[in-house]
Amino acid sequence: MVRIEGLRKSFGDLEVLRDINLDVMPGQVVTIIGASGSGKSTLLRCINLLETPDAGHVWFHGSDLAAEHVDVNRLREKIGMVFQGFNLFNNMNVLDNCTLAPVTLKKMSKAEAEEVALGHLESVGLADFAHADVNNLSGGQKQRVAIARALCMQPDLMLFDEPTSALDPEIVGEVLEVMRRLASDGMTMVVVTHEMAFARNVSDEVVFMDKGVIAEKGSPEKLFTAPEQPRTREFLSRYL
Ligand code: ATP
Ligand code: MG
Repeated sequence: MVRIEGLRKSFGDLEVLRDINLDVMPGQVVTIIGASGSGKSTLLRCINLLETPDAGHVWFHGSDLAAEHVDVNRLREKIGMVFQGFNLFNNMNVLDNCTLAPVTLKKMSKAEAEEVALGHLESVGLADFAHADVNNLSGGQKQRVAIARALCMQPDLMLFDEPTSALDPEIVGEVLEVMRRLASDGMTMVVVTHEMAFARNVSDEVVFMDKGVIAEKGSPEKLFTAPEQPRTREFLSRYL
């Protein structure tokens, strides 16, 4: 579904991504772990072209996102993104947050968009909050709204950038549970996280980034129990 080849990105003199190669197959959950500043967010942002790569290719459904004739907005509609900071529209209620993009970008009727949205709100356990003011929600509820909102666009791929890092420890679980269910329903997901239990239990592949390169990748089994690289071992030892 996604193929990344030779991806490079610098900000000024700082080389943030150096020759990244990665494939994500349909239905796979790939988690990206690594220290702060290793380039994890930049990599995610290159997948949906929030950042423009300096070199290399990102293919999505066989289309090179950098090719001139490609309708990037069309493709991007198929990629949902959930951020650490929720990024909800605070001047709208929960339901309107969920229906805005389907109505404006997909030209869905308001009634249909609401029906779809209510289904996704139900699946994240927030059916009773459809008409709530988002400002009155807890962080965990906000993040579940953000996930439901992304799902309303019927994405083929979901990108998560540290979705639980801004949450109090006691509500991290409710968001991870929603993500776990999404994964088991077959959603293709790329997840940047510091939740090692999630990475270990839910992902098909774990990618360890270090200073702009993929230092090691493999099955969770292998990466967590028998990492080959000393720097992977060193990083993981901080979580024991
Ligand atoms: P964290 O775990 O802290 O979120 P990260 O692995 O997601 O880190 P990135 O956000 O990808 O790291 O950043 C990698 C490096 O690129 C950092 O040194 C960061 O300061 C720098 N950087 C990221 N975005 C920009 C930007 N728009 N302009 C300049 N520098 C940037
Ligand atoms: Mg980041």
